[in-house]
Amino acid sequence: MSFDSSSLRHRAYDTLVVGGGFAGSVLAERLASQLGQRVLVIDRRDHIGGNAFDFHDEAGVLVHRYGPHIFHTNAPKVVEYLSQFTDWRPYEHRVLAQVDGKLLPIPINLTTINELYGLDLDSAGAAEFLAERATPGLEIKSSRDVVISQVGEDLYRKFFEGYTRKQWGIDASQLDKAVTARVPTRTTTDDRYFQDKFQMMPAEGYTRMFERMIAHPNIDFLPSVDFAEVRERVAYSHLVYTGPVDEYFGHCYGKLPYRSLRFEHRSFDQPHYQPVAVVNYPSPNVPWTRITEYKHLTGQVCAKTSITHEYPSAEGDPYYPIPTPENAELYRRYEALAEATPAVTFTGRLGTYRYYNMDQVVAQSLAVFARMAERSRSSEGQTRGESSSDSGWRVAA
Ligand code: FAD
Ligand code: UDP
Repeated sequence: MSFDSSSLRHRAYDTLVVGGGFAGSVLAERLASQLGQRVLVIDRRDHIGGNAFDFHDEAGVLVHRYGPHIFHTNAPKVVEYLSQFTDWRPYEHRVLAQVDGKLLPIPINLTTINELYGLDLDSAGAAEFLAERATPGLEIKSSRDVVISQVGEDLYRKFFEGYTRKQWGIDASQLDKAVTARVPTRTTTDDRYFQDKFQMMPAEGYTRMFERMIAHPNIDFLPSVDFAEVRERVAYSHLVYTGPVDEYFGHCYGKLPYRSLRFEHRSFDQPHYQPVAVVNYPSPNVPWTRITEYKHLTGQVCAKTSITHEYPSAEGDPYYPIPTPENAELYRRYEALAEATPAVTFTGRLGTYRYYNMDQVVAQSLAVFARMAERSRSSEGQTRGESSSDSGWRVAA
C-alpha cells in the first residue's frame, strides 16, 4: 500500500470516507451530489465496491471476488436510488443443498420433504408432517430453536447443524435467532431463496454501478490506501468510517469477533458446472459451505464457466459480524464510544457490527445522509454566507 498525495485533486476535503463498499459509496455520492461537498473515498483494497466487487476473470467470466452477491429488497426507495447508476437484470435466486446424496431445494419446502423421504405429500400433508416433528411451545432463543421449532431434529441435523457449525465456528444454539430465520421453511413448492418484492442483478455488474456512483467530479477515490496512512496526512472536516468499529478505537475493549472466508476460484472449459447458481453443502464431512457458479446469476453466455468454493475461517478479512449475545454486548460498548465521537460517522456492516444485506446497508447510509443533511442545513442557517470550504480545515484525530 502506498499513499501518494499528488493524486489528490483537492488540498482539503469536506468529508473523508473510509471504505468504498455500499456504505461508503452511497454516502460519498449523496454528500457530493446533494450537498456539493468535496469527498475523498479511500479503501485498503485495490478496488471500489467492497465485498460486492465483481470483475471479469481470466476465462472472461464475470465473477464476484468475495462470494455470490444477489440483490433483493422490499424497499422501493433503495431500488429507486440505485437505479440511477444501473439497469437491472431480473433474477430469482434458487439454491440446492446436497443432502443424503441428493440435490434438494433449500429453504426446505414441499419438494424437499417429498424427495428426501420418498413421499408424495401436498401442502397440508407437509404441514402435518412438520408439525409431528417440530417441537411445539419451545421458547425461541437461538438459531437452533428457530429451526427445531419448525422442522424438528432430523431436518435440522441434515440441513442446518453442519452448515452452521462450519460457517460460524460455533453451534446454532449459541447464535442469535435472526441468523437461521433468514432461511424460513415452506410447505409450498416455492423454491426461491428470497421472497422479496424486488429481486435482480445489476445489468453490467456491481463494479460498473459503483464506478458510476463515484464518477461525480467532487469525489476522489484512492484504492490500496489504509486509513492509518492518511489520517494525519489529509485535511478533512468530517470522517465517515465504514471499516470495523473496534479497529477504529484500537480494540480498546477487546476484539469484536468476525467470521472470515477463504474463496477458491476455478474455471472450466465447459458451459456449465452445476444446475443452479449456488449449491450448499451442509455435511460436516465437506470442508466448504457452498459452491457458486456465477453465470446463473449474471445470465452471461460464454463457452467457459467459473465457480467459487467458500471455506469458512477464523482468520482473514472480516466478512461477517458474529451475532451472539456476548458480541452484541461488546458492540454496545463500542457503539457508546462511537456516539461520543461526533466528528466521525460510523455506518455499514463493519462500522455498526450488523449482519446486514446490501439493501439494508444502502438504506442505512441513505438514512445517515438524511441526518447529516439536516444538520448541515441547520448549521448553514447559523453561519449564513460562510461556505464550507472556508470553514477552518483541520485534520481529524
Ligand atoms: P464492505 O463491503 O465490507 O466495505 C467496507 C470497505 O471498507 C471494504 O472494502 C474494506 O476494505 C474497507 N476498509 C475497512 N477498513 C479500512 C481501513 N482502515 N482503511 C481503508 N479501507 C478500509 N448481501 C446481499 O444483499 N445479498 C447477497 O447475496 C450477499 N451475499 C454475501 C456473500 C458474502 C460471502 C458476504 C461476505 C456478504 C454478502 N452480502 C450479501 C452482504 C454484503 O456484502 C454487505 O451487506 C455489503 O457489502 C456491506 O457493505 P459495506 O460497505 O458496509 O461493507
Ligand atoms: N443455513 C444453513 N444451511 C443452509 C443455508 C443456511 O444452516 O443450507 C444457516 C447458516 O447458519 C447460515 C444462515 O442460515 O449462516 C443464513 O444463511 P444465508 O444463506 O442467508 O447466509 P449468507 O448468504 O449471509 O452467508
